[in-house]
Amino acid sequence: MLKHCAITLVLGLTLNTTLTQADTLYQTKGLIDGTGKLLNKTDFIVSNDGQITQIGNQLKITGSQHKTVDLKHLYAMPGLIDMHTHITYGLPNGSKGNAWTELGQVDEKGRRQAALENARKTVATGVTSIRDLNDGSGLDLKLRQVFANHKEIGPRLFVSGGGVHPSRPVEPLDYAKSQIELDVDWVKIFGTTGSADDLTSKAYYDKDIVKSITDAAHKAGKRITLHSYGPEAVDAAIYARVDSIEHAVGMSIKQMIAMRDNNITYVPTIDHNRYYADHRDEYGYTEEIDKNLRTFVKKNTQAVAGAHSVGVSIATGSDAVFSGFGENTCELKQFKAAGLSNADIIQTATVNGANLLGQKSQLGRIKEGYIADIVFLEENPLDNLDTLFNGIRLVLRDGKVVHDVRNSEPFIVNCG
Ligand SMILES: [Zn+2]
Repeated sequence: MLKHCAITLVLGLTLNTTLTQADTLYQTKGLIDGTGKLLNKTDFIVSNDGQITQIGNQLKITGSQHKTVDLKHLYAMPGLIDMHTHITYGLPNGSKGNAWTELGQVDEKGRRQAALENARKTVATGVTSIRDLNDGSGLDLKLRQVFANHKEIGPRLFVSGGGVHPSRPVEPLDYAKSQIELDVDWVKIFGTTGSADDLTSKAYYDKDIVKSITDAAHKAGKRITLHSYGPEAVDAAIYARVDSIEHAVGMSIKQMIAMRDNNITYVPTIDHNRYYADHRDEYGYTEEIDKNLRTFVKKNTQAVAGAHSVGVSIATGSDAVFSGFGENTCELKQFKAAGLSNADIIQTATVNGANLLGQKSQLGRIKEGYIADIVFLEENPLDNLDTLFNGIRLVLRDGKVVHDVRNSEPFIVNCG
């Protein structure tokens, strides 16, 4: 250990880096890694292909071709990952009071326009990657390409196409295969009822059906997630060994231990029910629905506290729809209420998400060889999590600026 430290020290003192005009040196007040640690380093270099090539402390640079960005008044952390969105559920002119019905009346052009607005709000919250679940129209696949090429401002997309649901006109396995053929990144199964103001959880499928779909997805190199509002489809998901379970409240300790032991991530999406209640006028929801949604939030918070104590990997997912974009990160406040530390919370939105996406050597960390998805903040989020809601000043994705309010007012994330 001593020997290792000595070598590091010598390297640190003597390292001289020659940069070219393809490189950008970022100088910050401090770097917070996705592991939830403040690194003992302040500077990093990004090459023009959007990769972090070096990190260090007051790097000694030779050459005068490179660009230096002085952000010594800001902290930097990895771009956040939102593991559950519906970016194509949007209304270009906002809701008139019944958003779900109105969505059915919007054509693809209108939905695309709303999705691009959702995308800009998403990156303003520091989210640089999202997993979008259940578009089913093909628009998610088109947008994945648009954002990959930086043709529009937005996050990196991982998409599932349409989810497997009993309302589909074909057999569940055939439907899953049809989506896999479209080259989706994920397969989604609706394992139970429950969505929007429907808080029920009736299982749809036998465990062998869930397993056959899971096996087909894995065989094709795709990941798979299962929607279960309560514990009803959780045993089937564990039996099938899916990659993540969405929403589920009321799980037993035994189920949580099995999730942990089978490396199944929990994406609780606590906050989307708070969002529906706060925005109930946009959906035409009654006071009683409001009450039920808030009761579900409490159950979901308890489930997260239990899963966290057992050691289940938890990932941030907003389940954002419509005007919920721009509130993507409010889930982090719910995790705080569930008793997670700031370091644990940062992990849910960085390394845990990256791991679930199969991107743990590329996303979620400030480290050599990683993609330069970076959020620059006024304060250290390990000390003050609120800086993620009112102190984001600059966001990079692939080393490119996707949100910049260094010289204007910060975007305020309003969590009700
Ligand atoms: Zn959802």
